[in-house]
Amino acid sequence: MSRIAYVDGVYLPRSQAAVSIEDRGFQFADAVYEVWSVFGGRLADLDGHLVRLQRSLRELAIPMPMTRASLLIVLKELIRRNKIYNGMVYLQISRGVAARDHFFPENSFPTVVITAKSVDFVAAAKKAEAGIKVITVEDNRWGRCDIKTVGLLPNCMAKEKAKEQGASEVFFFDRDGMVTEAGSSNAYIINQKGEILTRSLEANILAGITRFNLIDIAKELGIPVIERAFSVDEAKVAREAFVTAATAFVMPVVQVDNCVIGNGKPGDIVTRLRAAYIEKALKSAI
Ligand code: PLP
Repeated sequence: MSRIAYVDGVYLPRSQAAVSIEDRGFQFADAVYEVWSVFGGRLADLDGHLVRLQRSLRELAIPMPMTRASLLIVLKELIRRNKIYNGMVYLQISRGVAARDHFFPENSFPTVVITAKSVDFVAAAKKAEAGIKVITVEDNRWGRCDIKTVGLLPNCMAKEKAKEQGASEVFFFDRDGMVTEAGSSNAYIINQKGEILTRSLEANILAGITRFNLIDIAKELGIPVIERAFSVDEAKVAREAFVTAATAFVMPVVQVDNCVIGNGKPGDIVTRLRAAYIEKALKSAI
């Protein structure tokens, strides 16, 4: 089936979808993005991602190129045209096309690219049943990781290193050896007291929409959440560990570098959290 993309007001086959070589997203990573999970043809956490998108754009002084209502129509239409039941929608907005110059152009209009794809939720569930391995990598990203920009080269390099070592995610750590977040997700451990620890949003990390929901769910389940930095050493002796992201949901971590977490299988608490997260996301998807 030929997949359909949306580029600046036009739906077209992905093979024909393109942006200018002078697009500032391409030239300077001057662009932001969002990812929604699709459950049964419906968008999970619609508003959370929209609000963060608007914030990212505002921080970079890129105007929001379409209204919320128009954007929602396009997101839904793309799900329909691509016949997505379970999957994800990716949206990128750049500052637009302009002759290459570091100064922000005065008359550019934002470029909007949206794609959608199916995701095998059964395979994802199997991955979660086994849990993933992470390696620890020094966080050498820029100081504005709270903005969801497409400038992800350090994340790609770190994740590539993980892959070379048979892992699929990284725990970034700062100069003090404290974990900030993961390569494309937020990072958590559960200590021996059964408390969830995760870095506070005051650090240089992305305010994950899944993180926000996860904290709510943990509270509903009576599991304490403490937003404080934890060290790589603490992670290695944690009772359980996990990461969260829109497409990974709640993904158990069973190994940090060479240290096996718990008995090497996803623990009880993270398993409960994943089930509760999926149930809630399904119910609230629009
Ligand atoms: N942190 C980073 C660096 C990410 O790239 C992502 C997701 O892409 C997240 C955290 C999780 O954010 P969300 O839960 O909104 O998908």
